[in-house]
Amino acid sequence: MTRKTQGIETQLIHAGEPVPRIDGSLVTPIFQSSTYEYTGAEDYHDLRYIRLNNTPNHVGLHAKLAALENTEAALVTASGMAAITTTLLTVLSAGDHLLAQRCLYGGTHDFLTHDLERMGMAFSFIPGDRPDTWPERLRPQTRAVYVEAMSNPMLEIPDLEAVVAFAREHKLVSIIDATFATPINIRPCELGFDLCVHSCTKYLNGHSDIVAGAVAGRTELVEPIRRTLNHLGGTLDPHACFLLNRGLKTLAVRVRQHNESALAIARFLASHPAVARVHYPGLENHPQHATAARLFDGFGGMLSFELTGGADAADRVLDRLRLPMSGPSLGGVESLITRPATTSHAGLDPEQRRELGITDGLIRFSVGLETTRDLIDDLEQALTA
Ligand SMILES: *Cc1c(COP(=O)(O)O)cnc(C)c1O
Repeated sequence: MTRKTQGIETQLIHAGEPVPRIDGSLVTPIFQSSTYEYTGAEDYHDLRYIRLNNTPNHVGLHAKLAALENTEAALVTASGMAAITTTLLTVLSAGDHLLAQRCLYGGTHDFLTHDLERMGMAFSFIPGDRPDTWPERLRPQTRAVYVEAMSNPMLEIPDLEAVVAFAREHKLVSIIDATFATPINIRPCELGFDLCVHSCTKYLNGHSDIVAGAVAGRTELVEPIRRTLNHLGGTLDPHACFLLNRGLKTLAVRVRQHNESALAIARFLASHPAVARVHYPGLENHPQHATAARLFDGFGGMLSFELTGGADAADRVLDRLRLPMSGPSLGGVESLITRPATTSHAGLDPEQRRELGITDGLIRFSVGLETTRDLIDDLEQALTA
């Protein structure tokens, strides 16, 4: 689908902003008011109240995010998990069954395995890159299929075109978490996905100073999610809306720099004798490199790598690195580094981790916006010391 209007950089800055500007203010102010004068709304969901997701800060962000995803509608939420859970709890009803890609973001994995069944819904995991195995997991009650654009921390890319085709053939709602990719690198609704969710905590806000989420898609699908969100209450605060809108304006330049720097670092690591393996979709030897090159406009700022020296060597490298800070989350201006086996995936037993390819020595790197040369120099001294 081609963009009928302006380029994505222009949309980031101008889409959803009030015309004319409020009192001439270039920047949309924060509407720090929980409630608004009654104007005769007859439907509960049309009353003007922060929790009903309809303040000027919400409405503007919704229009901007819909424009970025090149789709009809969007909704911001109090966190990425609020976007994911509210979406699933709207699409699925008691008795329904979900197909979900194996190796999901930890919070999503926990929601499926701990909460979904308790609410009367079922799920099955599918390998994202093996469409031949999906039909045998279908049930008459299967309602939706859920994948992630790039998996954490192995950066695997599911067969996205097959997901869309499979969903259409079996009348399933296709949902994708595109947090790692951002709309700069891929717009899943253009590929035919029904709903695209994001943790805006990561790249979309980009400055590691709020938690927020979003879901985008056709109005007929997003509006019922807004109504569920109005009831569940996972509403984004207007001040966080303001910060997210501010962060979004620079998304394109930030993501292109993340892409460029991560590719240079991946190449450096791949050529270093202390490194056994690098997982980055921009490298020619990545198993889904050809698909990624075709469907994505950039390969993102996330990579992971294994050292020949294993877990002990990984700990030494983490200790010696000066620039990347050790911590969870990703997608901000500061580089962040973690060892998934002891952090994000510590809850899995070693056997499960092995199945997912997460070795004890695996290091995950969220490449920030520091000078690429400085990051490479830092890695070089940490790897060779
Ligand atoms: C962080 C993250 C989430 C959850 O987002 P929160 O904003 O922390 O609730 C979901 N999916 C992916 C891929 C993430 O990285």
